[in-house]
Amino acid sequence: MELKGKKTLVVGIGKSGLATAFFLRRRGADVTVSDQRSAAALAKEIPSLMEAGIAVEAGSHGLLTFRRQDLIVVSPGVPFDTPELVQVRSFGLPVIGELELASRFLQGKVLAITGSNGKTTTTALCGEIFQAAGLQTLVGGNIGTPVIDLVDRSGPDTWAVLEVSSFQLETTVNFHPRIAVILNITPDHLDRHGAFANYAAMKERIFAAQGPDDFLVLNGDDPVVQQAASRAHSRVFWFSRSKIVRQGACIFGETLAFRASENASLEPILPLNAIPLKGKHNVENVLAAACATRLAGIPAEAIAAAVASFHAVEHRLEFVVNIQGVEYYNDSKATNVDAAAKAIEAFPGGIHLILGGKDKNSDYAQLEPLLKERVKAVYTIGAAAEKIEGQIRGFVPVVSAGTLEQAVNLAAEAAATGEIVLLAPACSSFDQFENYEHRGRAFKELVLARRGKGVWQNA
Ligand code: ADP
Repeated sequence: MELKGKKTLVVGIGKSGLATAFFLRRRGADVTVSDQRSAAALAKEIPSLMEAGIAVEAGSHGLLTFRRQDLIVVSPGVPFDTPELVQVRSFGLPVIGELELASRFLQGKVLAITGSNGKTTTTALCGEIFQAAGLQTLVGGNIGTPVIDLVDRSGPDTWAVLEVSSFQLETTVNFHPRIAVILNITPDHLDRHGAFANYAAMKERIFAAQGPDDFLVLNGDDPVVQQAASRAHSRVFWFSRSKIVRQGACIFGETLAFRASENASLEPILPLNAIPLKGKHNVENVLAAACATRLAGIPAEAIAAAVASFHAVEHRLEFVVNIQGVEYYNDSKATNVDAAAKAIEAFPGGIHLILGGKDKNSDYAQLEPLLKERVKAVYTIGAAAEKIEGQIRGFVPVVSAGTLEQAVNLAAEAAATGEIVLLAPACSSFDQFENYEHRGRAFKELVLARRGKGVWQNA
C-alpha cells in the first residue's frame, strides 16, 4: 500500500487517531485530521499536529473534507454509522480503521485477542509468555500502545500480541491474525452496537479473513462463541473449564493441559494451584493464553513459568489492602454486568459491593442469584443508581450512596472482619470520572486514606 503523496483523512483524534496521523505523515501522505471537539478542546494536540504539517479540522466534520480523500481512517471512538462516513462509503471511498491500516504494514506474526471481558489480562499474559520464551514480542492495541506505533518496531521474526475491541474490528477488511482468540461474548456496548447479534458479529470479524493455515481459539463453554466455529475458515481449537476438549486447552483433574489434535494425548502445562490470579474467569483467561501460545510453538515449561509469576493487571480484581480484617478489591474495569458477576463469583460471600456509573443499556437484574448468595449490601453510585436500585430491589439491602467516597465510607463502616469491599461497578465511569483508571485510582486513594483507622496489611 503506497501512502506517499496520498490525500488521507483521520477522523477522531484520540490516542490511536493521533498515532495514525503521525504515521501517515511519516510515510509521506498529505494528512488532515477532523474532530468534532472544538479547537479549544484540542489545544493540547493541535501544536504538534501543525508542527508535523498536518491540517486540523475542529468543531465538526465538513462533508467536503471527507470527499476529497484517497483514504479515510476512522478512530475506534467514532461510530461507523456516522452520517458523513455512511455517505463517503456510498461513494466508494476506502474507509478503514487504525487496526486495518497497521496490519497492512506490520511485519511478523500476529496473535489477536478479543472478547467481552478478559482481553487485557489475557493479552498481557500472552505477551509475558512470549517474552519468557525469548521471542521478539510486541504488545499493543486496545491495551495501550496503538498497533500503528508497533509497525516500525516489527520485523519478520516478531510476534505482535494485540488486544482488539469490537470497535476496532468494525473497520477491518483484510486483518487476519495467525492466531485469533475469542474469550467470550456477553452483552456489552449495546448503547453503540444496538442488538446483541450485531455486537457478536463484530467480534467474529477477528477471524473473517483467516485462512486454513491460521488458528482460531474459541471458548467451548460459551454458547455464543461456540456458534462461531461453523463460520471459521481456519483451524479451530477450544479452551474449556468444564470439559475435555477435542483439541485445545482444558482441565484434567487438578492440571491445566493441552491437546494438539484429536488423536494426541493430553500434555500437562501447569497445576491449577500455580495460577496466582483470583476467580474462575482468570482460569479461563489462562486456558486461552496457554492454548494460543502453545499453538505458537511455546513449550509448556515457559508457559508455566510465565503464568506463575504473572500479577493481576491494575484495576482488574486488584487487591488493594486489608484493614482490620476487611479486604478491599479494585475491579474498576468491571464495566459490564458479566464482568461484575465474575468478580462477585471470585469470593464465597460477605461482599459489600459498589455498583453504578454510566449505564450501557444493561440488565442488572441478571445479578439476582449472585447478589442473594454472596452479597451483604450494595452501595450505588452515579447516574445509573436509580435504574440499578429499581432492578435489584428485594434481592439484597441497597444503600443509595451517590458518590464513590460515600460508598467507600459506608461500605467500610458496615464491613466486618473477614468480609470484602469490592468495587465492581458493572457500568462505565464517564458520568463521574475521566475513565475507569481514574475511578479505580480514586477508589484506591479513598480506601488507603482509611488505613489510619486500624491495623492494615498492604498488597
Ligand atoms: P477487557 O480488556 O476485555 O475489558 P480485562 O482483562 O481488562 O478485560 O478485565 C475486565 C474485567 O472483566 C475485569 O475487571 C474482570 O472482573 C472481568 N474479567 C476478566 N476476565 C474475564 C473473563 N474471562 N470472563 C468474564 N469476566 C472477566
